[in-house]
Amino acid sequence: MGVDRLRAAIASAHRTAEADAVLRLRMLQPGPAAAQAITDLSFRLAERVRTTPPAPLSAESFLRQYGLSTPEGVALMCVAEALLRIPDADTADALLRDKLAWGNWSTASAADWALMLTGTLARWHDEPSTLKSLISRLGEPIVRTAIKQAMRILAGQFVLGETIEQATSRAAERPRYRFSYDMLGEAARTADDAARYFRLYSHAIKTARARDGISVKPSALHPRFEEAKRSRVFHELLPRIRQLAELAEQRAIGLTIDAEESERLELTLDILESVPFAGLAVQAYQKRALAVCEWLVELGRAKKRRIPIRLVKGAYWDGEVKRAQQLGMPDYPVFTRKAATDISYVACASALLSAPEAIDPAFATHNCRTLATILEIAESGQFEFQKLFGMGDGLYDIVLADHPDVQCRVYAPVGSFTDLLPYLVRRLLENGANTSFVHQIADAKVPLNALVADPMREPVEPDLRIPLPRCLYPDRKNSMGLDLSVRRNLDALRAHVIADGPLAAVESTSPQELDFSIARAAEAFASWSRTPAAERAARLERAADLLEQHMVGLVSLIVREGRRTYADSVSEVREAADFCRYYALQAKLLFDKALSLPGPAGEKNDLALHGRGVFACISPWNFPLAIFTGQVAAALAAGNAVIAKPAEQTPRTGMRALEILYEAGVPADVACGAIGDGSLGARLVADPRIAGVAFTGSVETAQKINQTLAGRDGPIVPLIAETGGVNAMLVDSSALPEQVVDDTIASAFQSAGQRCSAQRILFLEAGNAPRTLELLRGALAELKVGDPAEPDTDIGPVIDQAAHDALAHHIRSLRQSAKLVGAAHLSPNLHGHYIAPIAFELPLEQLPKVEVFGPILHVCVYQRDDLDRVLAWLRDTGYGLTLGIHSRIQAFVDRVIAQARVGNIYVNRSMIGAVVGVQPFGGEGLSGTGPKAGGPHYLPRFAVERTLTVNTAAIGGVTELLSGASRAPTSR
Ligand code: NAD
Repeated sequence: MGVDRLRAAIASAHRTAEADAVLRLRMLQPGPAAAQAITDLSFRLAERVRTTPPAPLSAESFLRQYGLSTPEGVALMCVAEALLRIPDADTADALLRDKLAWGNWSTASAADWALMLTGTLARWHDEPSTLKSLISRLGEPIVRTAIKQAMRILAGQFVLGETIEQATSRAAERPRYRFSYDMLGEAARTADDAARYFRLYSHAIKTARARDGISVKPSALHPRFEEAKRSRVFHELLPRIRQLAELAEQRAIGLTIDAEESERLELTLDILESVPFAGLAVQAYQKRALAVCEWLVELGRAKKRRIPIRLVKGAYWDGEVKRAQQLGMPDYPVFTRKAATDISYVACASALLSAPEAIDPAFATHNCRTLATILEIAESGQFEFQKLFGMGDGLYDIVLADHPDVQCRVYAPVGSFTDLLPYLVRRLLENGANTSFVHQIADAKVPLNALVADPMREPVEPDLRIPLPRCLYPDRKNSMGLDLSVRRNLDALRAHVIADGPLAAVESTSPQELDFSIARAAEAFASWSRTPAAERAARLERAADLLEQHMVGLVSLIVREGRRTYADSVSEVREAADFCRYYALQAKLLFDKALSLPGPAGEKNDLALHGRGVFACISPWNFPLAIFTGQVAAALAAGNAVIAKPAEQTPRTGMRALEILYEAGVPADVACGAIGDGSLGARLVADPRIAGVAFTGSVETAQKINQTLAGRDGPIVPLIAETGGVNAMLVDSSALPEQVVDDTIASAFQSAGQRCSAQRILFLEAGNAPRTLELLRGALAELKVGDPAEPDTDIGPVIDQAAHDALAHHIRSLRQSAKLVGAAHLSPNLHGHYIAPIAFELPLEQLPKVEVFGPILHVCVYQRDDLDRVLAWLRDTGYGLTLGIHSRIQAFVDRVIAQARVGNIYVNRSMIGAVVGVQPFGGEGLSGTGPKAGGPHYLPRFAVERTLTVNTAAIGGVTELLSGASRAPTSR
């Protein structure tokens, strides 16, 4: 196959079914004789490794001792991650109290690391002790200093040197090994970050010794290394990598492009193809791995060069699984079983070794079986092994002694200890999990023959404990997503939007038509409410399937009418489908059968829920599909007829949702649309035939509706109102600034800040403020404001001229009174209602107590002692919708939660994007009446309750007593 066809095979293998992928890999394994030889060799190796414990205080001993399986290990990791970067002593002490004061750290434990830790502390005291008592006796400052020291020792086991100079001089002490340096630190958030990494990499290449290697992460060299930003990436990143690769070539240093998240793979391959002299890391846990190797072989042949390839198993496994579930992908990009990854590794290794003219392979492993396999199938001199710094020393000491001609390279992190976190977490996941080889070799209970068993003997079917993303929920399907990291999908969406062209005109509903619709709906209500709940549910489930089938058309409509981005629009379709399925499920649970209640003998008591009548559903423009569909689906599921009024800005999307409901079998007179502005909405809710109102929009409108309803004669009807918020994120100085900025950018600016849940205020504790604000400024500058029909747009326009003018006015007044933190660039060529994301810093007293519905962030820096005042201020706004918290200290999180009066709290993540049935959504106070949308209490609010009591004794006595069926036990 040619290079191009092999490349296409990579794309189609992306989320292929695991069983199919494994089937092919199984055919590429060593034969029975070789497999036996591998088993024998790996058993002998494992025997020797098990009897050679790792050096005390080495990274490997730490991971073996603690790993992920002990709370002490996890606590130590948390401390190691945060302590050295926390700017102030109080927060550092709070972290130590939080994480270490409870653990079993006594020297009675044989663990080297516990010994080291308490030993370090014990130097400050005459007897060994637990941390808790040490803290109480020695005082926190001393303990803090001691633990910081201990953490430096710990970090030092994972990091070869804080500078490349230190690293190369330490590397020189181990002449038997070659080195590949990994500059610590993660993805760049800002152009400055990227420039700094470029300097670091260049300097490292200039300083390293000939034949050493450097590993570069494209995401460190560019703040937006994403498929959607392809042209920027090729303009800006490619020249940087080329320059580094050329420099490396001149100095005979190997340059390897590191493997990152699977959605960046295609982009990485394109970069590789365009950079002579660069090598690549390939992750065997990806289902595409073999296809990638086959392509690389052809590429090497075509380019007549040996491409250096490092084969790894992969270090982002948990993240890959989580993201695929969150995005509703059809399948995972990675194998769910470890054995499948092991088989994949061997198949990839064979492919790489089969083409020495095209590939210069390196095999990164600490697993005896994997290593034995390579020794068995390869000829020496053809490849090298790689190991992580601090890991696998015992194994490689043996292998290198036995095989003097075998080369091994150490992958060695270099950099500041404060940048250790992401690296540590990845190593912990790879090697600290109970299933990892490193962990198991230390566990005498794991028999060696099991440890080195042939993965071909393991089950091949996918691991059922990790259900497919579609099957995440036990009782309903998860909505299907669309992968926007795939170029094909982005191009198809854009083509669809262009082909669909301008929006068709719509006509408003006249008062007479509205009157007629209400009358029709009132008549249709009787038969719909008598339709069994299961049947109503079935139609909603069909609607969910149809919504997914019409994904592309719906996305195009939302982009053109609501001016939302592709990512937002895909989420909307998914949310709408989730609402349909969730309320269908709730209807079956709550409405299908009456609830039988206990009572005296001879009587039957049943409680049943029924539709109320005609519900008015009034929705806003900012989620033109999801909120519209959610309200209507809930009302229908509960047995009501509906008059649904979409916002005047987005009527087409609402009417399209109704068409889909009709196609799914909902009768047209049961769900009628009404197109018009607020005056039509006002007329609708004033109508005495309306038996309830579900409203989402501004608090002012909700209040008007409430008054209209109060002024109506006749029955008092329910109003379910979901309104706005003054939403804040509270950050203490233990939080990681990079995470805070990522989540703030998403929460405050995604959807141009036009989400009710959007973050309006960032409260930053003073210690953390300088670094966080610097990052925020840089990250704002990376956002692209533009036409949402362009796939690389991050922020589209605000909804209309009125919204634009109000926001522009607010910005003008902030420019007078507040300090500018940073802003995104607004191209002068853009025409429309664009507001560039912007952030201002201002004191607590000057923060707005009203909702500012757009991409404007207010930052308030607070002192630690002011936390209660901040929380009181938030309560005082009267709103209570969403709240974000970023902290590594549970006591801080608990304190904020205890004082908050808000509907949805998010800890250490973004504060938008509530998922139906997972994070039921809705606020309190000025933010809404409840019950929460997408939650278990929502549907009953759309219903009336009827109790039915039947005297069963009236027709022939208390039969169950006489038959003895339910006789109560007698007490004597
Ligand atoms: P809005 O209140 O102006 O309009 C919402 C809907 O109410 C529209 O369909 C409008 O035509 C209708 N309406 C207006 N006046 C009316 C009246 N007197 N009687 C009946 N209906 C009337 O809100 P908007 O600008 O479309 O949406 C933005 C607001 O919605 C923000 O405040 C946002 O926070 C809020 N919102 C809340 C949630 C939530 O779940 N809590 C979700 C999305 C949006």
